[in-house]
Amino acid sequence: MIPFNIPPYTGEEIKYVKEAIESHKICGDGQFTKRCSQWMEERFSAQKVLLTTSGSTALDMAMLLCDIKPGDEVILPSYTFSSTANSAILAGAKLVFTDIRPDTMNIDETKIEDAITDKTKVIMVVHYAGVACEMDTIMAIARKHGLLVVEDAAQGVMSTYKGKALGTIGDFGCYSFHETKNYSMGEGGAVVINNPAYNEKAEILREKGTDRSRFLRGQIDKYTWVDFGDSFLPSELNAAYLWGQLEQADLINDNRLAAWNRYDEGFKDLKEKGLIETPVVPEGCVHNAHMYFIKLKDLEERTAFISYMKEKGILCVFHYVPLHSAPAGLKFGRFHGEDEYTTKESERLVRLPMYYGISEEETDQVIRAAHAFFEEKA
Ligand SMILES: *Cc1c(COP(=O)(O)O)cnc(C)c1O
Repeated sequence: MIPFNIPPYTGEEIKYVKEAIESHKICGDGQFTKRCSQWMEERFSAQKVLLTTSGSTALDMAMLLCDIKPGDEVILPSYTFSSTANSAILAGAKLVFTDIRPDTMNIDETKIEDAITDKTKVIMVVHYAGVACEMDTIMAIARKHGLLVVEDAAQGVMSTYKGKALGTIGDFGCYSFHETKNYSMGEGGAVVINNPAYNEKAEILREKGTDRSRFLRGQIDKYTWVDFGDSFLPSELNAAYLWGQLEQADLINDNRLAAWNRYDEGFKDLKEKGLIETPVVPEGCVHNAHMYFIKLKDLEERTAFISYMKEKGILCVFHYVPLHSAPAGLKFGRFHGEDEYTTKESERLVRLPMYYGISEEETDQVIRAAHAFFEEKA
């Protein structure tokens, strides 16, 4: 059996978790949290990185920092995980879904401006599969209309756009360290604050509305409840696991990229015959091999493919059902413009097994089974 995902583990994580336990500091914001956020700040040239309890709560923090007023609108793609939309709802916004590009499955930057109204406050972009959205165009639109940009870079840790780390381009960036992501801490995430004007507000929001962070730095002699907040900080046990992963970030990244490239090479012939489509990585984008997907003819062929692969012991999965057609999407939002690609492309896409440590034999087996599917069909 080849699973779809195996949570990443490189070997040292257990040592760091033990260290955290033995240091008698297992709540949040200890040594391991500090090490992880500093590592990301340096590696990604990020102004400020705060660890959170999940990618979802990183998005919640970012959207709460956007200071949304009743009636304000947020533009986002419909082809994304529910968490992107939930964070906008939590902040009190109305959702305006726009279409994606069929090549990258990312928000179509040419369709954003038409969706802007005098209520629009934020553009949320999702870097699908760790491949960047067209950020130069999106940032120019946002600045022209005075809008904030939140990057859902849950899948984009270690990816870049024109040399800049994903998550550091908009006003806020959000990472996920869920066990299905490239780097993990079980459940966890991080919010990247790219404008220092939000640093203090972000720390207060994350620390139950108190100025405890300033207190811990010795900037004030007691801490108090100063604003609305919640608890968004993860435990040191989780941060210790993540530290073991970040220390091996290049090893994990190289390993995934090698598997991704084997798939891409192995599917060239099927692509050239026009039987499938494979991922597109635009010029200027360096991706992190978060995902390898192929696109089949339609929903029917995809269903047959997934069950065929399952019979061969290979677990392949489809991805998002467009949010605008889901019950909550109908309740909280509307789709602006024509759904030219969102539904059609989402029905054709299938994700292949991809995880740190997937072997050459395993990727070869997946490639062979996929070829057999088309041979048997012919
Ligand atoms: C995984 C993911 C999230 C949520 O992250 P969690 O850590 O699971 O809360 C949000 N958005 C996207 C695009 C994701 O892939």
